[in-house]
Amino acid sequence: MSLDHRLSPEHEELRRTVEEFAHDVVAPKIGDFYERHEFPYEIVREMGRMGLFGLPFPEEYGGMGGDYLALGLVLEELARVDSSVAITLEAGVSLGAMPIHRFGTEEQKRTWLPKLCSGEMLGAFGLTEPDGGSDAGATRTTARLDEATNEWVINGTKCFITNSGTDITGLVTVTAVTGRTDGGKPLISSIIVPSGTPGFTVAAPYSKVGWNASDTRELSFSDVRVPAANLLGEQGRGYAQFLRILDEGRVAISALATGLAQGCVDESVAYARTRQAFGRPIGANQAIQFKIADMEMRAHTARVAWRDAASRLVHGEPFKKQAALAKLYSSEIAVTNAREATQIHGGYGFMNEYPVARMWRDSKILEIGEGTSEVQRMLIARELGFTE
Ligand SMILES: Cc1cc2nc3c(=O)[nH]c(=O)nc-3n(C[C@H](O)[C@H](O)[C@H](O)COP(=O)(O)OP(=O)(O)OC[C@H]3O[C@@H](n4cnc5c(N)ncnc54)[C@H](O)[C@@H]3O)c2cc1C
Repeated sequence: MSLDHRLSPEHEELRRTVEEFAHDVVAPKIGDFYERHEFPYEIVREMGRMGLFGLPFPEEYGGMGGDYLALGLVLEELARVDSSVAITLEAGVSLGAMPIHRFGTEEQKRTWLPKLCSGEMLGAFGLTEPDGGSDAGATRTTARLDEATNEWVINGTKCFITNSGTDITGLVTVTAVTGRTDGGKPLISSIIVPSGTPGFTVAAPYSKVGWNASDTRELSFSDVRVPAANLLGEQGRGYAQFLRILDEGRVAISALATGLAQGCVDESVAYARTRQAFGRPIGANQAIQFKIADMEMRAHTARVAWRDAASRLVHGEPFKKQAALAKLYSSEIAVTNAREATQIHGGYGFMNEYPVARMWRDSKILEIGEGTSEVQRMLIARELGFTE
């Protein structure tokens, strides 16, 4: 059991640096990007310059040599202020670059990681399809090896893919059926598809409830040809690979959800101190104080949960159940805190110019992305020994 309660001086310095960046650089600008449904290139560039996209990767590939705890701390601080920026980093690191770091050949790492680590290029991960996300084993996209040209020929559609259509998106790793077992079960593999490959079409951005300054698109593949060497990891191991990637990603999403929940506390404390009703600040009422105390309790507990999962991951211990627990708890309390923060803001909480309105809209997806709450409960139940 490893649960690190205290941050090292390096982790604390990183956390404080990003806290200041979120407050000074992200907060004043992000509302306008969000309203215009525009990707915040200038903020992402700055995050790249700070080394945030390379945080958990080795220095020899342009990374910062940090770990998953460092990534979680950064995501939490960003999401305290804004979730679009946080999810752009989360998806870029956990879904875009991490599969290449974990499963790539030396050549794939040297080709892609330096640009992904610097933030000049974003990577995406295409798992979900229009006919199913939770049941990822039901992948319909196919990749056939053309032995004459030594190329994969990919056909299919992926939906809801983060970071897949920005001006700086360089690749998407897609899962595809590349064969069948003797029993007829699909063998799924992961393949790197560079942006701009003929036959690879990126749709216009979705109109979303939240995360409006983040890029989410549908992708289609029509006889898309990429070199056989673009296979990521072993053929037929794609399913196991993305389960590992999703386990790690859940720790990151949990940190992000904790940040949103804490941001709701920050905004509510500030508002309750200044908003007057019945001749005194609304925060003078114990009913409001208790609401905020409960919000703080939930954010704190979520933080303990994600740091526990991250600590296990960093120390090479089993962390699957802890990641699912943390993701489930933190995403559900993020929604609760966002609802309460909006309530404390009264009518202003329903106005988009207030950060809590953005947090309210951004909270719901946390119970859906990288495994729904139902999927987390299934994983936890399985870890407890239930097999059906
Ligand atoms: C903004 C956004 C960004 C995203 N980014 C990415 C990305 O970058 N890459 C990517 O691959 N995907 C991405 N996704 C997809 C996301 O991971 C899926 O939407 C999610 O996994 C759920 O899949 P689904 O939408 O197909 O829902 P479904 O799987 O169809 O589920 C529908 C409902 O049924 C429930 N359900 C399903 N099976 C069971 C069961 N056995 N028992 C009980 N309940 C069940 C689910 O929990 C859910 O409530 C993104 C989605 C959004 C909205």
